[in-house]
Amino acid sequence: MATKIGLDHVQAIAPYVGGRPISEVAREYGLDESKIVKLASNENPLGIPESAKQAMLKVASELGRYPDSNGFELKQVLSNRLGVPEDWITLGNGSNDILELTARAVAHAGDAVVFSKHAFAVYPLATQAIGAKAIEVLADSNYGHDLPAMLRTIQSLGDQAKLVFIANPNNPTGSYLQPDAISSFITQVPPHVVIVLDEAYNEYLSPEQRYDAIAWVRTHSNLIVSRSFSKAYGLAGLRIGYGIAQPTLTDLLNRIRQPFNVNSLAQAAAIAALQDEAFLQKGYELNKAGYAQLTEAFERMKMPYLTSSGNFVLVKVGNDHHAGVRVNQELLKRGVIVRPVGNYGLPQWLRISIGLPQENAAFLDAFAQILKDEKVLA
Ligand SMILES: *Cc1c(COP(=O)(O)O)cnc(C)c1O
Repeated sequence: MATKIGLDHVQAIAPYVGGRPISEVAREYGLDESKIVKLASNENPLGIPESAKQAMLKVASELGRYPDSNGFELKQVLSNRLGVPEDWITLGNGSNDILELTARAVAHAGDAVVFSKHAFAVYPLATQAIGAKAIEVLADSNYGHDLPAMLRTIQSLGDQAKLVFIANPNNPTGSYLQPDAISSFITQVPPHVVIVLDEAYNEYLSPEQRYDAIAWVRTHSNLIVSRSFSKAYGLAGLRIGYGIAQPTLTDLLNRIRQPFNVNSLAQAAAIAALQDEAFLQKGYELNKAGYAQLTEAFERMKMPYLTSSGNFVLVKVGNDHHAGVRVNQELLKRGVIVRPVGNYGLPQWLRISIGLPQENAAFLDAFAQILKDEKVLA
C-alpha cells in the first residue's frame, strides 16, 4: 500500500498563478516575442532604474560572499527615510516574504485569519500554508474592503482571530481605503490580533490620498505595514520588500526568517532606487497618464471598470462567467497578456496593468477588435 505523504491542508492549497511569461505565450501562439505586450503582473513599465543597475554592477564582484544578513545599510537608509529606528524594520524576499513571516509568527493550525473577498491572492495562501482558517469577509458594493464588517467578524471570532490582512490600495480591485476608516479600524481591532497593512502600491497614491501609516505603527504594537520594491521602484525580479512594526513584532519575524532572505544585489539596488526620486516621479506621471488613457477608452467603449489607485485597472469584459477567460484567450492570440481574475471571484473581469503609452494602445486596439466580434462576447 502506498504511504501517504504531505499534510491535507497543504494538499488543499490552490497554487498561485502568475502572469504568463512572454516566451511561453510566444511558443504557444506562434508569435514573435518582441511583438508581445505584457500587462499582466503590475510591473513598472519603465523597467529597472539605471541607478539600481549601476549599484548592482558595483557589488557583483562580491557575490562569492553571503549577503549582509541584517541588511545594515539598507535599513539605515529606510530608517532615515521613514523616521523609525532600524529595529522596527524587517527586510523581506519581496513583501510577500513579510506577509508569510507574519502569518507564521502569529498564527498556527486552527487559528482564524481574516481578509476581504477579492483581496490579494497571497493572503489565503499564507493562511492555508500554516493550516489556519481563512475567514473571507464580503466586499463592499465597490468590491473594496468593508472594514466595519471585517471588524465585526474579528470581534465575533474572539480569541480565535490572530491576524487580519488589509491592502491599500488593494490588488486586483485597485480600491482605496480612506485613512480615517483605516485609523478607526486599527483602533478597534483587539490588541491580540495582528494587522498587516499591505501598501505594495503606496507610491502610486496621489498627494491627496497620502497618509502617515508609520504614525499608526508608533501607537499600535499589533500593526505591521508592508511595502515593496517590486512595483513603483521597478525591482520585481530581485525580490525585495520590507515591513515596519514595533520591535516586539519585528523581533518575532527576525527569529523565523531565513538568515539570508534578501540577496546582495537586491539590497544594493534597493538603496539606489530609494534615492532615485526622478525615477519614482517619472513612473508616477506615466502611471497617471496611462490610467487616463485606459479609462477614457473604456468610457468610450462603454465598458465598466473600477476606479483604481494602483498601477492597474479592472475592466468588465462580459456578463457571463466565462467572459474573462474567453476575452483573455482572444487577447493572447493577438499577443497581449493581461490577467484573468476568476481566482479572485471576478470571472467577468480582466486586470490590465498600466504600461507605456504604446503598450496601452496595443491592448486597446486588440480589445476593440475583440469587442466587435459578437461571437466572442456571446
Ligand atoms: C505585488 C503585491 C505584493 C507583493 O509583491 P512583492 O513582489 O512580493 O513585494 C504584495 N501585496 C500586493 C497587494 C501586491 O499586489
